[in-house]
Amino acid sequence: MTLQPDRANQALATVAEATRLLHAERPLAERLHQLFELLHGAVRYRDARLTCWLQSAQPGTARQQYYSDAAWPYPWDDALTRQIAVSGAISRRSVVLSAEAGVATQLPITQAAYIGAPIFWGGRLWGVLELRADYSGDLGPLAEELLTALLPQLAVAIAEEGNRLPALTISGQTSDTPTGLTLAPAQRHQLAALTASLDDVLDLHALLSLLLRRALEASGAEAGAISLVDHERGELVLQIYEGYGSPQPTGLNNGLRQRWSWETGLAGRAARGGRALLVRDLSREPGIKPMQGDVRAELAAPIMIDGRAAAVLVLDSPRSAAFGEEVLSFIRALAERAAKPLSRALHYQEALESSLHLGQVFASLPTGLALIDTNGKVLRANPAWSTVWGLAHSPLRTPFHVSLDLIEILLPRLGDPLALTEFVSEGQRAPERTQQLNVRLNNPAQELQILSVPTRDSQRAITGRLWAVSDVTREREVDRLKSEFVSIVSHELRTPLTSILGYTELLLNRDFSTDERRQFINTVYVEAGRLSQLVEDLLGVSRLEAGKVKLNRWPIPLRQIVEELTTQLNTQLAQHRMLIAIADPLPPVLVDRDKVKQVLFNLLNNAIKYSPDGGQITLEVREARPADLSVEHPPGRWVLVGVRDQGLGIAAEDLPRIWDRFYRVDNTNTRRIGGTGLGLSITRALVELHGGRIWATSTLGVGSNFFFTLPVANELTRRG
Ligand code: ADP
Repeated sequence: MTLQPDRANQALATVAEATRLLHAERPLAERLHQLFELLHGAVRYRDARLTCWLQSAQPGTARQQYYSDAAWPYPWDDALTRQIAVSGAISRRSVVLSAEAGVATQLPITQAAYIGAPIFWGGRLWGVLELRADYSGDLGPLAEELLTALLPQLAVAIAEEGNRLPALTISGQTSDTPTGLTLAPAQRHQLAALTASLDDVLDLHALLSLLLRRALEASGAEAGAISLVDHERGELVLQIYEGYGSPQPTGLNNGLRQRWSWETGLAGRAARGGRALLVRDLSREPGIKPMQGDVRAELAAPIMIDGRAAAVLVLDSPRSAAFGEEVLSFIRALAERAAKPLSRALHYQEALESSLHLGQVFASLPTGLALIDTNGKVLRANPAWSTVWGLAHSPLRTPFHVSLDLIEILLPRLGDPLALTEFVSEGQRAPERTQQLNVRLNNPAQELQILSVPTRDSQRAITGRLWAVSDVTREREVDRLKSEFVSIVSHELRTPLTSILGYTELLLNRDFSTDERRQFINTVYVEAGRLSQLVEDLLGVSRLEAGKVKLNRWPIPLRQIVEELTTQLNTQLAQHRMLIAIADPLPPVLVDRDKVKQVLFNLLNNAIKYSPDGGQITLEVREARPADLSVEHPPGRWVLVGVRDQGLGIAAEDLPRIWDRFYRVDNTNTRRIGGTGLGLSITRALVELHGGRIWATSTLGVGSNFFFTLPVANELTRRG
């Protein structure tokens, strides 16, 4: 394998520096931490670990592990380490990293690059060096060559440490920690080095991971875990662990619980009691449930914040009496030194989470929200903000400014531009005031409601405003419909009811001639008909809206329906001239006879009603030509029906609204004529139910044209 010359040079420089470093007169832990740091300059790894077997360490010590300052909160796979040790060869591969399901909550399962190098020298295995990284490219041939070069140096360092170890016992009686613990000089040194690295970490999981790994290094424990204490529920919540068997990528249980009562186990006791506890042999303490089955020695140290345990560090070993008093003192001191960084990390985590939650709420609310500074500049806005103003597609200048940009862009649509300008300047004049404004926009018609509240910083000083803009068009429309419904229905009910009551009262109380009686009864009959029509229309609308109207469709010649209708409308047509033009031949239409009759009836009835002085009404029926239909019209063959009158006509601004429920053009004529404003909305719904379209053109004072289309019955349906 050949390396690029400059990178090769850099690698050689790293090896030279590492050699110098490893031979320095310092504790092994410190030298290794510096080595890991140095390697970071040459290899982009996420975390590193050295596992070694110190021959003459404390009695019974099986292995010692050292970790890099950079700490990935994923537990290491000890089975893999053993595999590398046994294989005797350096190995690069990719591994799946995961924590126990739910543990260290936000950790997703991830793929990582891994390199493991066994440290063989003189026919003996001294240890295993392992690195993990995000990408396999980060642990390429360069990393492999570097590690290979370092292995003999590491073997020497480990051998020397093994010889020196018996010196690691309690010595001196000076107090090093606030609680008066006494530490060996090497431990004192280690604690100082550790404190510095803890202070650099703000992220909770990275901090706990680093803390755990340092505790494992210092104690020689085979496994360890850190849990947070949930005082409200009296529970411990596992955050991070190391060494309890290999982690299961699928979150299968490797024997660790995620959350458990602080009533069971040594960790719970330590948390409740607020002090570190050590059990040399759990098999002799049946009352204490160990973290995992094969654990013999267990040490639990609470990390106290403001007088109560915020977290508990647990160290475990399968060797009974693995931890001596000096280990307990060190871990106690470590837990104490970790309190401040932990408190910081917990606050940071809390702030992070609450800002994350707020951010999610901000982004997903359908109300347009914008934080605006005191000058009117939009600092931050959610997606609904541009949607609600209809700006989703407009290229906004940044920074966006409410009075300069927003009002300018909206100007063509603003019903009252001054109101919005005044609203903005009022907000600047009285920054502590809460304001509200309804803004009407045209094209398309929209009504927006702006709520503007002052925002403040942590010192309560005003920083600007929060605008919450909601589209209230539908609410306003519903309000309008409701009040129109009430006024129309009450008027339409009251008028016929008054005359029915009046005439029946007359008939009951006085004698009239036969002619008079007949005339009165006829009026009562006509008025009752109006009432019945109103009820029909109301029911019709609600049935159509509920989608309950089904069509009973047959191929039918329209001519037949027209003839039936004109006979029916004969009396109403007395004042008008009626012109009927039906093309011949005309293909039959596939329709529901009664519904189409109702459509035609409504249109002809309107033509009669709204041409009070008579005039000509034309009904034209023929097959539609392409030029008759708009581009949006569904394709196919259609019959076109036109109803033309020479009546009042409809103003351009009213024309689009005549199809709305309860909409009636408001003028003296229509008020005199009477109606519910339901006819056309029913008519349109019925035409569209057939697949057709309806539209109108009109000139005020000249007359109106209503057109609609119905589907031609094709050969198949005609025969069927
Ligand atoms: P109604 O006739 O009961 O008021 P419609 O829904 O049939 O309700 O019509 C809605 C409105 O459209 C009417 O109030 C009227 O103002 C207007 N309109 C409908 N047809 C005509 C027409 N042929 N000429 C003039 N105005 C019409």
